Formats: sequence, C-alpha cells, structure tokens
Amino acid sequence: MEMTERVETLRKQLNQYGYEYYVLDRPSVPDAEYDRLMNELIQIETDYPELRSPDSPTQRVGAPPLDAFVKVTHDTPMLSLGNVFTKEELVEWVDRIEKDLGYRPLFVAEFKFDGLAVSLKYEDGRLVRGATRGDGTTGEDITQNLKTIRSIPLRLNEDVTLEVRGEAYMPKRSFQHLNDERERMGEALFANPRNAAAGSLRQLDSKIAASRNLAFFAYGLVSTDDLVASHDEALAYLKQLGIAVNSEYTTSQTADALWDYIETYVTKRSELPYEIDGIVIKVAAYEEQEQLGFTAKSPRWAVAYKFPAEEVVTTIEAVDFSVGRTGKVTPRARFAPVLVAGSTVTYATLHNEDFIKEKDLHLFDRVVIKKAGDVIPAVVSAIESERTGNETEIVFPTHCPACDSELVRLEGEADHRCVNPECPAQLLEGLIHFVSRPAMNIDGLGEKVITQLHEAKLVHNVADLYRLDREALLALERMGETSVSNLLAAIDQSKQNSLERVLFALGIRLVGQKAATLIAERFETMEAIMAATVEALTAIDGIGTKMAESITLYFEKPEARELVRELDEAGVNLTFKGAKRPVDTDAPLAGKTVVLTGKLHEMTRGEAGKRLELLGASVTGSVSKNTDLLVAGEKAGSKLAKAESLGIEVWDEAALLAFLANHA
Ligand code: NAD
Repeated sequence: MEMTERVETLRKQLNQYGYEYYVLDRPSVPDAEYDRLMNELIQIETDYPELRSPDSPTQRVGAPPLDAFVKVTHDTPMLSLGNVFTKEELVEWVDRIEKDLGYRPLFVAEFKFDGLAVSLKYEDGRLVRGATRGDGTTGEDITQNLKTIRSIPLRLNEDVTLEVRGEAYMPKRSFQHLNDERERMGEALFANPRNAAAGSLRQLDSKIAASRNLAFFAYGLVSTDDLVASHDEALAYLKQLGIAVNSEYTTSQTADALWDYIETYVTKRSELPYEIDGIVIKVAAYEEQEQLGFTAKSPRWAVAYKFPAEEVVTTIEAVDFSVGRTGKVTPRARFAPVLVAGSTVTYATLHNEDFIKEKDLHLFDRVVIKKAGDVIPAVVSAIESERTGNETEIVFPTHCPACDSELVRLEGEADHRCVNPECPAQLLEGLIHFVSRPAMNIDGLGEKVITQLHEAKLVHNVADLYRLDREALLALERMGETSVSNLLAAIDQSKQNSLERVLFALGIRLVGQKAATLIAERFETMEAIMAATVEALTAIDGIGTKMAESITLYFEKPEARELVRELDEAGVNLTFKGAKRPVDTDAPLAGKTVVLTGKLHEMTRGEAGKRLELLGASVTGSVSKNTDLLVAGEKAGSKLAKAESLGIEVWDEAALLAFLANHA
C-alpha cells in the first residue's frame, strides 16, 4: 500500500535528520522541514492507527545517548513539547485544557530557549550531577562540562536536595565569536547557537566547554518534597536559591493575553542577547499539571508556540534569465510557493553563474531558502540528501535571451552581460526606469503602456517619448482620446522636472536618487555635470570614487551626449530647480553629517533620515572621518565597525527616538 511506503520513507528521513541533529549536532535541513515531515507522519498515524509503531519517531524523544559518556537514568523522564503554530491552535489548546479541568486555570508563558535541555541534581545544596536529556529516559553525564558554566551554581543558597531542569545555551555574542574564530582557523562553522551549545557540551574534554562561554536558564523543578505548589512559585524559588532564571515570563488566564505576549516577542526576540525559538505555555499549578498528565512524548499541560520559520524548504521549479537595464543577465529561480517568516515566496535571484556553481544548484533541487536581511528571499543551499536523480543542470545561456547576441563575461566579473546597445530588453528596462515614479514620474505611463509603446516601435530611446505623435497613439489598442490627451499632458509636464530627476532617470550605473540630488545641487546644470571630473564629483560628501567613475564613463559615450542633446532639444529642463537646502545654523543638527545603518523598528531609515534632515543634519550613505554621528539599528555591520574605529558618536534606535521626541 502506498501509505505504508510513505510512512516508511518519513520514518527513515526523520530518523536520519534526528541523528544529524541530536547526535552529530549538524542538521542538514531547517527545523521547519523536520517539523513538516513530523506533522505529516503524525497525521498519517492518526488517520491510520494500524500503521502506528512504538519505534516511530513520533513516539520518541531526542536520540539515545552517545556511548562515549557515562549514561544517566532520569527518575522523572525529560520530555519533548507539543507544538502550536497559530493563534487558532493556541486557542484550541487553551480550550481543551479548560474542558479537561472544568475551569480556566492560570498559565505561565515563558521563553523557549534554543539550546540543550539539561538536568542538574543538587544534594544538600551541592551540584552532584549534570546530564543531557538523551532519549528522555537515559541521558549522558556531562557534569564536568556543565560545571564550567558560570550561571550554574555549584552550591545553592540553601542545603536542599532537588533536580533543576533548564536550558544550556550559547549567547549570540559567544556564537558569533566562536564561528569567527573557526572561520579563521578554516574549521567547519556551526549552523546555529543551539548546535554549537550541544556540540560544546558533548565534548569529553571540559576545557572546550569552558572556552565556549555558555550560559544557563532554569525552567523547571523536580522534587519529592512539596517545596512549591506551582511553576511560577518554582521560578521564584529557583532564583532565591541562586540559579539563573529568566525574569521575562508572564502569567495569564486568557488566550488573548498569552497571544499578546507571543506577538511581543515575535518582533522583540531579535533584540535578546540569546536565541529563542518560541514561547512555552505551561499550566501553572502542579496539582492541575498532575491532573492533565502526559502523552508518550510530551506533557499535556504545556505547549510550545514555534515562531514562524525563517528557513524553509522548497523546490526550484524553473530558472529564467532576464536582461536588466545595464545588460546584466540575471538568473532567477521560481519555486513552489512557500511561507517564509510570514509571507509567501515564489522567486529568488540566483545572482550569477558562480553562485549557481558554488551552491551546486540544479533544476528541481530541493533547496533551503530564507529571507536575507529579513526581506529579500535568498537560496541558502541545496539539500543533497533529497535528490531523486531527476534534477538537471542549470545551463547558463551563451546568448542574450532578448536579442540573441552573444553574452560576454569580462575578466574578474561575475556577471554575464549583453553588450548590444540596441538590445530591446535593455532599452525597455531603461524606459521603464526613466518614466518611473522616483525618476521622471510620468503619470499613466506604467510598465504595461511603455511596453506597448516600445513593442509598437513608437519609442526607441527615452527622448522619443517627447516626440510622440497623437495620431500614432490613437491607433494603439485600448488608447482613447482621453487617455492619449492625459498621457501627452503628463509627458509634457515631466519636462519641468528639476535636474536631479533627469539625472537619476538616465539610469547611470550606481547613481541612485540621493546621489543624483547631491550632484544636481552642486553642479546645477547637466552641462556642468557632463564636464565634471572624478575629483570634482568625489569632492561632494556622499559620492564615492566608483560612482564618480561610472558617471564620467557614461558621459564619455557619444550616444549619451547625443541623448542629452535630444532631451534638451525636446524642451526637457536640465537645470537644478530644487531650492538649495536652507542653512539654519540654529537647527539642532546644523552642520552635522549623519549616517544611518542597520534595521530600525519604529520607522524606516528613509523616514529617520528625513526627520534628521529637518533638524539640520546632512544625511549621507557612507562613514568617513567627516561623519559626526552614526545611527546604528539592529544588525549594523561594517559601518558601525568603521564608525567605532574612527571614534564617531554612535546612537542606537532608542537614542534616536529620544532625540527626535525632544526636538519634535
Ligand atoms: P522541542 O524543541 O520540541 O521542545 C522541547 C525542548 O524545549 C526541551 O527539551 C527543552 O530543551 C526546550 N525548552 C526551551 N525552553 C523551555 C522552557 N521554557 N520550558 C520547557 N522546555 C523548554 O524539542 P525536541 O523534542 O527536541 O523537538 C524537536 C525540535 O528539534 C524541533 O524544533 C525540531 O524542528 C528540531 N529538530 C530538528 C531537526 C533537523 O534536522 N533540523 C532534527 C530533529 C529535531
């Protein structure tokens, strides 16, 4: 039967992934993929009870301990947790508890630390044994390694005998430091802090664990004496004994309040100095916990809400190649749609041929994808173990997909380019850019209409837009009197744009809106810009050498000069109209050059920049010795390092918000 086969395959896969994760501390697939397969198996075993088996991965916790360690038997099993992924599932779980107990109990919500579950046994206040969870019944004795963790006291504040359950973890900083070090030494990197923590604690030489800066949080108490009556009391008591307990837990009776707590940390967790992969909800009172009991694998009185997966698995269904405005040919993978960190992803760029080769990507490969910088989907790796033999090579075209001219790849460059200046794809991309909102902002000339004009051969270069003929437009499909009049009026209107828009609209490599404004402001006419040297351009704060070179190279081309001439002839304004920024010497940030970097939460960097400019600051893109202040949001990288090395003042988002509030 087909279902039997599927169950076999799932069990085999899950056992393999479990082994890589629990024993080798080296997972080959993201957790979301493991969870997806596990949920499929659970579903089948629920629907077809005859296929259930006691040795199914659905019935087991973790993996058996390694032989290299002395084995430890847990008097009280160390279990796994059931999962919920949505508010609906959480509400269902809370309702079920209420139904089972006959009333709504108090819940504790706390972090689900992403580390390794450990048990610490204290006798008369002394730490006598520390062990891993293992398969839940039998774990590994790692006392020597755990003793190296400073947040685990060797003596408690009271001479009590009890067992503490908690998570040993690796703080983000230690993880970063460890992987940096390993990279320098040419050693394999750890996939995440959890695997790094587990790998460090399951070493026979405790010096290694000692060098890894691990930490610990307690989240449970096992005792034969009635020391406390509920989980929240236990947390307070553990703290009193001198054990590290995380204080950011909350108690509540309603699913709504629990959900609020969850939502808070969906966003705030990135600010924590350690990784959490969810929120654990526990029924507080021990008496109620006892009443609710356990399944084979997890307690019925607790559940884990797992944060939306940041890495998921999908299949490359096709790869298409597109030609950009500069002739660059970009491969793009199309996926079976998947949900990543809350939104559906269907495409990701594969950048260039080297990227495809380095990652060894094939058509129909199963691949791990994530959102880089939290927004842009990116392919992380192909999953070799899931190859079926039907995958095929991704062949990079030798000729332009739009004009069929031979592609070139210049030495030292990763990109293939179409160098045919008449390539219709490049011209079209250039036209689309020219009329776009941030450029010439021509109303009614969206991608569709411009493509139509281009295909009808009415516009070839951007100057043709200003030579359009009413009759020819009227002959086009879906073009009535009114729309043609509106379109011509909008095109006419765009002639009045200030110089920075025209400069940006030309689509010169590396020249963004901001740079175009700085240059237009300084040189005031297109003529002056065309004559500007690299030195004159780089004298502007915010314009680097590469961009300056790109500008001079562009205007060296006779076609570019001819195009500017045609625009001028058509009546397009080529002078700077924008009022020069008033110099208000009394403004709080007058004369200050500010750079923004990293992710801000309360506003975008663009908005923050505007607010700072209103307060007199000049906002630039790169840190130099002329920079007065760096605003560093989350995950700030090289700019922050540079600012620090130059001794430049650095503000975090809180400091920025406080400043803006004070000067509102
Ligand atoms: P689990 O993550 O489902 O939940 C139980 C564990 O949560 C406990 O053992 C404990 O270590 C931890 N925990 C953290 N904070 C806690 C708190 N406040 N209270 C109670 N427990 C807390 O653990 P599991 O049973 O090991 O489940 C499997 C997990 O491992 C899943 O997330 C799965 O995706 C992952 N996994 C991944 C792979 C892979 O190949 N990527 C393979 C196997 C398992």
